[in-house]
Amino acid sequence: MKVLHTVAEFRQARAAFDVLGFVPTMGYLHQGHLALVEQARRECPAVAVSIFVNPTQFGPNEDYARYPRDTDRDLTLLEAAGVDLVFIPSVEEMYPPGFGTYVIQPAADEVLEGAARPGHFRGVATVVCKLFNIVQPTKSYFGQKDAQQTVVVRQMVRDLNLPVEIVIVSTVREPDGLALSSRNVYLNAEQRAAAPVLYRALRTAAERYAAGERDAETLRAVMRSVLTGEPLARPDYISVAHPLTLRELDRIGADGALLSLAVRFDQVRLIDNWLLEGEGT
Ligand code: AMP
Repeated sequence: MKVLHTVAEFRQARAAFDVLGFVPTMGYLHQGHLALVEQARRECPAVAVSIFVNPTQFGPNEDYARYPRDTDRDLTLLEAAGVDLVFIPSVEEMYPPGFGTYVIQPAADEVLEGAARPGHFRGVATVVCKLFNIVQPTKSYFGQKDAQQTVVVRQMVRDLNLPVEIVIVSTVREPDGLALSSRNVYLNAEQRAAAPVLYRALRTAAERYAAGERDAETLRAVMRSVLTGEPLARPDYISVAHPLTLRELDRIGADGALLSLAVRFDQVRLIDNWLLEGEGT
């Protein structure tokens, strides 16, 4: 496994491979990240992973400075997973003095994570576009855990004709349903015990959908009522949206819906989602 820190070094190492799978991450790796790596390994003869805590996707009052980092442990996990190339650029390497070009999707900023975190998807789209240009992957792997990110990346690839195939991997969960996240380390014991309420709320609404409920407001109310049962949980948004436009629905139609939640436990903000398959999909 080769570990590269500059764009020039990475480009040189990348030239040894034809078909390349790519998994962009912010590090502090867990089984969710490794599921992406494993799928890439199955589908591609060589795999690259990037580790970069991207400052441009964090708001001024967010957790950029304290975002958990453990590069040595990450490298041990990636080596064991059979990764070929790891790209770990510095902030200066990615954003040198004078940097001034961004990828913007105004529609993404109007809903869900985009509305809650101004500028977040400008940072995500910009860094993913840069990484695609540096890494030149054949396929790139993203987690369903960050549902809106998958929508933004797919739209960027379509709109800008980027020559990469996007693959989405299902969310990996703890046995109690909590979606794995690097941010779970912020939870204290009491909050950790309460956190599976996101999964329970989503699952309860999904069961109602499976039983025939198609009214979106009823499903929002179902999720709200499960979340209200957990006193430590403070919902940020509770959404039943179209899976592609992410616009809030009145009724769920042939395209199905994306159920998604953002919930605060004191300072810690967790997100999770559940895709409801439509009759048309
Ligand atoms: P991050 O390091 O949080 O930026 O995540 C890197 C990639 O891993 C993103 O595509 C995430 O959606 C994905 N990911 C994070 N958590 C999970 C999970 N629990 N299951 C599947 N994929 C995940």
